[in-house]
Amino acid sequence: VPFQQLNISRPLLRAVEAMGYVTPTSVQQRAVPFALAGRDVCASATTGSGKTAAFLLPILERLLYRPKKVAVTRVMIITPTRELGVQIHSMCRSLSQFTDIACALVVGGNKNLKAQEAELRARPDIVICTPGRMVDHLTNSASVHMDDVEILVLDEADRLLELGFQEEVAELVKSCPIGRQTLLFSATMNTKVDDLASLALNKPVRVKA
Ligand code: AMP
Repeated sequence: VPFQQLNISRPLLRAVEAMGYVTPTSVQQRAVPFALAGRDVCASATTGSGKTAAFLLPILERLLYRPKKVAVTRVMIITPTRELGVQIHSMCRSLSQFTDIACALVVGGNKNLKAQEAELRARPDIVICTPGRMVDHLTNSASVHMDDVEILVLDEADRLLELGFQEEVAELVKSCPIGRQTLLFSATMNTKVDDLASLALNKPVRVKA
C-alpha cells in the first residue's frame, strides 16, 4: 500500500517522500483513516511502530484543509518525557516542511519559562508538551489557554501513568473543549490506561499495530 492511498495531500506526500518513507507501517495504515474521519482512536502501538507519524499525518492534513483566519492552538500532544517531546517535535517539523504550520515544544528542563510562555502566546498551531510543564503554564499564565484545541493526543499513555502524571493529564484533558477529537497511543493496555481512555475518549475505535 503506497502513501497516496492514505488520502493525504501533496505537501505531506512530498515530505514523506523526502524522509525516505515508501510504505505506511501497519499502525499508520490502520489508524490514519479513522483519525482522518474525525474518530477518536485508542491504539496499542510500541515505539518503532511508526506511531508518531500515525498521529501527525492526520493532524497536519486537518490543519492544512480546514484553515483558520486567526492564529489559535488547535492541537495539543502530551508525551511523558522531554526526549520523546524532542523526537515528536523533530518529526513534526520534517512532516510539515512544505507547509506553514507552526509547532512549539513545551517541555521541562533548562529552557527559559518566559521564552516558552511567549511562544505559547503566539498561538502555534501545534503544542507538543510534557504534563508538568504544560500545567505550570496553564496555571501561571492567564493568556495561555487550550480553548481552541480540536485534536488532543495522549502519547505513550502507559508511561504517562507509570511516571505518575495521572492528575496533570486529567487537568490537561479538562482544559480542552469537550467536542475535540482525541487520539491515544499506548505500548501496553491495562486498567489504568482503560480508565484514562474512558476519561478522555469518546466512542473510540480500537486499533492494534
Ligand atoms: P516511532 O514508532 O513513531 O517512534 O517511529 C519509529 C521510526 O520509524 C522513526 O525513526 C520513523 O522515522 C520511522 N518511520 C515511521 N514511519 C515510517 C514509514 N512509513 N516508513 C519508514 N520508516 C518510518
